[in-house]
Amino acid sequence: MIYSIAIDGPAGSGKSTIAKKLAKDLEFTYVDTGAMYRAIAIWALENTPDINDEENISSHIDEVDIDLDYKDGEQQVILDGENVTGRLRLESTGKAASVISKQKRVREKLVDIQQKIAEEIPVIMDGRDIGTKVLPNAFLKIFMTASPEVRAKRRYDELTMKGEDCDYEEILRGVKERDHADETRAVSPLRPAEDAVILDTSEMTEKEVAEKIRELFEERKGGKI
Ligand code: C5P
Repeated sequence: MIYSIAIDGPAGSGKSTIAKKLAKDLEFTYVDTGAMYRAIAIWALENTPDINDEENISSHIDEVDIDLDYKDGEQQVILDGENVTGRLRLESTGKAASVISKQKRVREKLVDIQQKIAEEIPVIMDGRDIGTKVLPNAFLKIFMTASPEVRAKRRYDELTMKGEDCDYEEILRGVKERDHADETRAVSPLRPAEDAVILDTSEMTEKEVAEKIRELFEERKGGKI
């Protein structure tokens, strides 16, 4: 049996930090699916006149080559032969990813790649639709959440630590906008799978969250739940 753990949740819920840590502990491969949408966003920004033009993007999406690679345990995204990992976290890329991730053909292409990876190796995959769409038979499904205020504060602290000038209220507005877009889109809206364990991390430390998920995994493996 090839184990898979699906972690879904809104932006800033702490999914990627936890998923990375767990992947290391359990010796699974961490797959950051948001990074794949971000890479497609880079392609669309650079190669199409309008990222909202779904028809045009759909007609070219099959020509785009997306590959994942791992360097020192860190996921690298290779877009048409070029490593674009360094550009994925730009604010402009995130905004564009939110637009193109609404598009049906884009989702079909990426879901297909994600499912093929999980057929081959044990993965911890995080995103918005992993438990509901990508890995409906995942061994363990977690839906991580936290209040918009807590998520905005985490983002604010992260940026301030990096020495970036930022405004909490503006970040909070952005968090709410992104939630709204993810939750109301027609294709694969963000929602917990029926069999997902819901974890509100507002009052939990990263260590506590990671331990909780590890515990759930071990219990399930032992046939206890
Ligand atoms: O998680 P991250 O912020 O990197 O995701 C970037 C964008 O990609 C999000 O706005 C989200 O809408 C989209 N996404 C998605 N499905 C996934 C992962 C990310 O729609 N499985």
